[in-house]
Amino acid sequence: ERQETISVQACIEYALRLFQSRLREERIHVEQQWPDDTLWVIGDLVRLEQVLVNLIGNALHAMKETPNPTLTLSATLTGKQVTISVMDNGPGISEQHMAQIFEPFFTTKAPGSGLGLGLSISSRIMDDLGGKLQVVKREQSGACFTIALPYSPPAH
Ligand code: ADP
Ligand code: MG
Repeated sequence: ERQETISVQACIEYALRLFQSRLREERIHVEQQWPDDTLWVIGDLVRLEQVLVNLIGNALHAMKETPNPTLTLSATLTGKQVTISVMDNGPGISEQHMAQIFEPFFTTKAPGSGLGLGLSISSRIMDDLGGKLQVVKREQSGACFTIALPYSPPAH
């Protein structure tokens, strides 16, 4: 497992790039909100990217029937914590599913379109990186997931 200083903004951009053509085809509006200053974290870029890809993939799947589908990605620094959030304006997650979504093999998707492993694996990856993946309860429609990581600027 690599331990390198990585830019959260760059990592989000890499993950988004993988979805570039799909975002265009499905006419997904993408909102990006983050500071100009680089948000540094320590970890394995590929693993963090994998988590973001899982979350973005889930968001796009959830917005299949949504008018004006919007994917909102943000990153903020609060004290010594970096928080990345991945939000969509799809149907959201029901109260009863909230407790189960991180369980391995829990899926509401049709057979063949989801193994139900994305969130449980992502959650474990975040634990390994010294961070945390959480789902946020929302008043508005849509789902919101946050990733918290310690802010770790390069030593100079
Ligand atoms: P999978 O994508 O294979 O179903 P995941 O672990 O990634 O497995 O997600 C588990 C379940 O969590 C999904 O089947 C869905 O019910 C719910 N879920 C995850 N992300 C979203 C989202 N953005 N909007 C609505 N439901 C979601
Ligand atoms: Mg998934």
